[in-house]
Amino acid sequence: MTSSRDLAGLKQELVDGAALVASIGLVPLTQGNLSLRDPDSGLILMTPHDYPYDQLTTDDVLALDLAGEVIAGEREPSHESQVHLAVYERRPDALGIVHAEPIYTNLFGVLHKPIAPLHVGTLIDVGGEVPVMPFAPSGSRQFGYDMLDVMGDRNAVIWANHGMLALGGTLAKAIHCTVMVEISAQLYHMALQHGEPHQIPERYHDLLVG
Ligand SMILES: [Zn+2]
Repeated sequence: MTSSRDLAGLKQELVDGAALVASIGLVPLTQGNLSLRDPDSGLILMTPHDYPYDQLTTDDVLALDLAGEVIAGEREPSHESQVHLAVYERRPDALGIVHAEPIYTNLFGVLHKPIAPLHVGTLIDVGGEVPVMPFAPSGSRQFGYDMLDVMGDRNAVIWANHGMLALGGTLAKAIHCTVMVEISAQLYHMALQHGEPHQIPERYHDLLVG
């Protein structure tokens, strides 16, 4: 069982992670949402709906069970909680999730164009190309399941016309993956201005992934 002190530490980890992604422009204003799973109790700690990251404290963090029931917290949970819960339900390797709105990733999202794994970091963090989930209104558990079908065993996916989601074995890894996707999108976009970028040869992919 998780002690309340451990849970306080995990809430602080979520608040610090949210502050970090906000500070580097990955979740403008109140966009996006973050969560992490307490591996001991199975509880999901979630950021509140539409709440300014610079005001977020551990008191604002929600604790949900896997069914979506609010176990602790006063605020309204993020409207994308069910998508996060679908991931925790189906991906036991996920202990942290970021849904972000980085501008270059969104550029590929509006083009419905996957981000090629041009940089070794993309292969390492994402596990290959960043796929695009066809547009659907987000927020439901079914959206989460459909998204997971598109993701396969990758750690990130673009939502067409609506941001991206990354997961990791820790929240820090999910944040790292989010940053890597955005760097890859910038790199790919810039490379395309100069010609056709070279891909990392297929035969090295398995070596780099995982
Ligand atoms: Zn969103």
